[in-house]
Amino acid sequence: MSVIDEVLQANEIYSQTHELRSLTPRPERRLAVQTCMDTRLSIRTLGLKTGDAHIIRNAGGIVTEDSLRSLVVSHYLLGTEEIMVINHTDCGLMLTTEQELRTRIQNRSGTAAVAPAFFYAFQNIEENVRHQLEKLRTHPWIPKEVAVRGFVYDVSSGKLREVLAG
Ligand SMILES: [Zn+2]
Repeated sequence: MSVIDEVLQANEIYSQTHELRSLTPRPERRLAVQTCMDTRLSIRTLGLKTGDAHIIRNAGGIVTEDSLRSLVVSHYLLGTEEIMVINHTDCGLMLTTEQELRTRIQNRSGTAAVAPAFFYAFQNIEENVRHQLEKLRTHPWIPKEVAVRGFVYDVSSGKLREVLAG
């Protein structure tokens, strides 16, 4: 059985109680988190429960055109008032460079592709977090009243460390 089939079976069991039925689309704690897809980061590591926050994830925890779209919807339509950006140690995107990654994928797949235009590989986590904060803080649709703060999650210690504006 594939993992997807296992998930379908688990969902069948979940749906018998569906204890999350009462949740609304508006995050209860009015928080949006932009972070990496890494499995080691979760609502559990942040002390959050389902329904508390919007978790917007992609490879690296990068503020992209599409994540901005989500964050803008999160604030204007669904009432979030604080944004956390979290990158983490041992991120896959730190193990490579933009060009090396593109070349590797082209060699494996045997073909080039126009999209994605960028993978957003990075070397310095703090610098990368600051860059994401900058994109949010300078965006005309992210109001100044929305708190925007950045963090590095250390996958060894399980701790968050704040990255202050530099
Ligand atoms: Zn990562």
